[in-house]
Amino acid sequence: MQNSSLPGTQAGKRTAYESLCDNFSFENERSLLDGLPQGGLNIAHEAVDTHANSGLAQTVALRFIAKGNTVKEYTYSDLQKETSRFANVLRGLGIAKGETVFTLLGRQTELYIAALGTLKNVSVFCPLFSVFGPEPVFQRLSRGGAKVLVTTTAFFEKKIKQLLERLPALRFVLLTNAEKHVDAKALSLRQLMAEASEQFAIPDTSPDDPALLHFTSGTTGMPKGALHVHNAVLFHYITGKYVLNFRPGDIFWCTADPGWVTGTSYGIIAPLVNGVTNIVDEEEFDAARWYAILEEQRVDIWYTAPTAIRRLMRMDIKPRERYDLQNLRLILSVGEPLHAEAVRWGEKMFDRPILDNWWQTETGGIMIANFPFMQVKPGSMGKPLPGVEAAVAEITADSFRVIDEPGQQGHLVLRKGWPSMFRAYLHDEERYRKCFHDDWYITGDLAKKDADGYFWFVGRADDIIKTSGHMVGPFEVENVLMMHDAVAEAAVIGKPDPVIGELVKAFVVLKAGFATGEALQMDILGFARKKLGAAVAPKELSFINELPKTKSGKILRRLLKARELHLPEGDLSTLELG
Ligand code: AMP
Repeated sequence: MQNSSLPGTQAGKRTAYESLCDNFSFENERSLLDGLPQGGLNIAHEAVDTHANSGLAQTVALRFIAKGNTVKEYTYSDLQKETSRFANVLRGLGIAKGETVFTLLGRQTELYIAALGTLKNVSVFCPLFSVFGPEPVFQRLSRGGAKVLVTTTAFFEKKIKQLLERLPALRFVLLTNAEKHVDAKALSLRQLMAEASEQFAIPDTSPDDPALLHFTSGTTGMPKGALHVHNAVLFHYITGKYVLNFRPGDIFWCTADPGWVTGTSYGIIAPLVNGVTNIVDEEEFDAARWYAILEEQRVDIWYTAPTAIRRLMRMDIKPRERYDLQNLRLILSVGEPLHAEAVRWGEKMFDRPILDNWWQTETGGIMIANFPFMQVKPGSMGKPLPGVEAAVAEITADSFRVIDEPGQQGHLVLRKGWPSMFRAYLHDEERYRKCFHDDWYITGDLAKKDADGYFWFVGRADDIIKTSGHMVGPFEVENVLMMHDAVAEAAVIGKPDPVIGELVKAFVVLKAGFATGEALQMDILGFARKKLGAAVAPKELSFINELPKTKSGKILRRLLKARELHLPEGDLSTLELG
């Protein structure tokens, strides 16, 4: 992998962005990646081995800041050995190419080693968010056909043991902090790692071999498993270079958890492929801690999310007065709309705008961005990556038309074929097929494009909730609420919240014989929290006599939301009840 120069200057009258697009080709970029010695492309080879075998062997690849502030570092050479050990552990257990390895871990070293070791073994890696309760964990492990789960003894006791009978395909649970094997299924990862060789030759890997599985939420049905392939690494490399603007020697911090796609694509792969030092903080958000990390770690590039930015904006801290942030070159945001006000706040506080970019689980990498070398229009998501064609389309039940006129609202669509595009929803070909119209992938978002080619986010085209930057499918939450003895029916919406974007709000119809009241309200909320975990569970609950439904029986969440927010109720021609 070499680092080609950025389009920092204007060539003639072309802007830097236009020159980048003029000169861009995926083939050229691919030629800058190493590739496996025997041919083929493997994410872990590009992220780890290629650097460990070159001049970056002694460069710090990962620097972990643990809860108690202790710091642990892995050079590219260390990481090569550890990930090879993990790959050998999998091989020794008979875990084959294409089989799925899950983690249920906080942001600790084992998660990162397991991710890259799994990719070396050409098995499929799926990280789960550690705050999930047993139900979301079960849904994902069973839908993803988990063969191995890496977790802690505490999570094993609290969340996994109760699920084992329902997960017959799960062959091994590798416990990160068990000194000894527990039984034939629950094994000590430490013991296995200690016995494993640090040499591992990555087997043949085609760019189209499955590599990563990320679950995302749908409005109907259970979470969808979006499958990504090894070729995605090409796009992680490209976006790392042009959007995150990695330069040799950079220190990078992505605050996202690998349980969500940003934390894997940009919290693991992109920085390592580009050979920089990647900071991982085990702790959750804390303004003083975060500013201290930016200062002490001399972070050059900081990739975060609107929820965190909004939290920082509400605090009375002027970061540059208290902290030495002279290294901080770029601040980027993803996951939700970044309002113009936040971009300007960044300018005032850090002397640079916060660069918003747009993508989603299915796209595997950043699709639309405010590039560091381009004029930022505060409130806009920016322009498509070179090699990516984005458009706004008018879509009806029987027509599809790309809208050429600027300023018109429509569905955000992407011409298919970029390297990190998802290749399947696991076990759901029909759903996958429905995401496409001819050559276009339909993102599920509504947007506008202005006369200068900048894209502006309008909203989701469906009922999916974005809370603290995380997608929550109403159906998954409703399902759990219905498991409560008192609940006959449930519907869930996203209610706008100034800090977390949207909060999950539930409406519940009680079974006959149950009376509404604060005690029952708390009981149902507590029940949901225990089963779903805090990240997904509703924070508010109202009792309702009947849910509004369409004539075909579908819950009209949109109407519940309009009523909750005192907005116009829209077309009610299909309304049956409520
Ligand atoms: P996820 O698949 O969880 O990464 O969520 C993807 C969704 O988050 C997108 O389809 C958008 O609805 C939303 N999203 C991500 N980035 C942005 C952004 N920069 N502006 C507005 N919405 C965004």
